[in-house]
Amino acid sequence: MTDTAVHVPGWRHIYSGKVRNLYEPESTAPGESDTLLVVATDRISAFDHILSPGIPEKGKILTQLSLWWFDRLSDELDVANHVVSTNVPPAVAQRAMIVKRLDMFPIEAIARGYLTGSGLAEYRQSGQVTGIDLPGGLVDGSKLEPAIFTPSAKAEVGEHDENISYAEMVHRIGQLAADDIREKTLQLYATAERIARDAGIILADTKVEYGVDEHGTITLGDEVLTPDSSRFWDAATYQPGRGQDSFDKQFVRDWLASDASGWERAADTPPPELADDVVEKTAARYREAYRRLTGRAFN
Ligand code: ATP
Ligand code: MG
Repeated sequence: MTDTAVHVPGWRHIYSGKVRNLYEPESTAPGESDTLLVVATDRISAFDHILSPGIPEKGKILTQLSLWWFDRLSDELDVANHVVSTNVPPAVAQRAMIVKRLDMFPIEAIARGYLTGSGLAEYRQSGQVTGIDLPGGLVDGSKLEPAIFTPSAKAEVGEHDENISYAEMVHRIGQLAADDIREKTLQLYATAERIARDAGIILADTKVEYGVDEHGTITLGDEVLTPDSSRFWDAATYQPGRGQDSFDKQFVRDWLASDASGWERAADTPPPELADDVVEKTAARYREAYRRLTGRAFN
C-alpha cells in the first residue's frame, strides 16, 4: 500500500507527506474538523527522497509501534499526545489512527544520546552539533552524556530538512514553546532510552513533532519512536567507531550510499529502485524492532 491515497469512506483526503496521508471527516467543512485520520503507508523515504517499491506492512508496524509507545509514555511522562481513537475504517485497518488536529510547529525535535549520521557529519566539520559544543575525539557511535537536543527545520515537500541552532528555533517559534519542546523531548528520550535498553536496543536518537491543540497545550503529534523516526541499534553488538547493527532504515541508507546501488547522491537525481533483498531485509528489521520492543511478534 504505497499509492498516493486510498479512498476511505467518510473521510476526505487532504494531504500526503512522504509516508503518511491525512484525511478529515467529510461531515465537516474543509479545515474545520477537530480530528484527522492519519494513515501510514508502506512508503519509505531516505535522504528526503521517496523510494520505490514500498516496504510490505511497514505502515502497520509504524502505527502499531507508535500506539504502543504513546501508551507507555503517557504512563511515565507528563506529555499530552494527539491520539483520539484506534477505531479506524477497515480500508486502513491497523495502519491508521484518529488524532486531534494540531497546529504543528515547523520543527523536528531531535534528541541524540549517541553521535552518528548528520550529527556526526556536523561534528567532524565544526566540533559542534546545531551549535552545541561537544568534547574532542568522538567517533561514529560515541555515547553523548548528557543527551543533546538538536532541532531541525521542517522543509517544504521536495526540500531537505536543515539542522538549526536552538537560538534559531527560538527565533522561529518563540522562547516559551522552544523551552517546553526541548525539555519534553529530552525527557521523552531518557524514558524511551531506558525502555529500549531493557529490550536489548540502544535508542541512539529520535525525532518527534509537536503541535498546539485547541486549548493551547503543546501536544505530541505524528509518530513516535519508530524505526523511521529513530535509530535503534543492537545493544549486544554495539561498538563505537563503526556503523552499528540496526533495526531501522539505516540499512536502506547504507545500500543507497554504496556502490551496489549505483546512485550518485550528490547529483540529487532520483534514487534507483530498491533491490528485492534490500526490501526484504528492511522489512525484517522493522519487524524485529517491533518484536523486541513490544515483546510480541508483529501479526
Ligand atoms: P512533510 O510534512 O514535509 O510532508 P513528512 O514527509 O515527514 O513531512 P509525513 O510524516 O509523511 O510527512 O506526514 C505526516 C504529516 O502530518 C506531517 O506533515 C506532520 O507534521 C503532520 N501531522 C502529524 N500529526 C498531526 C496532527 N495531529 N495534526 C496535524 N498535522 C499532523
Ligand atoms: Mg514525517
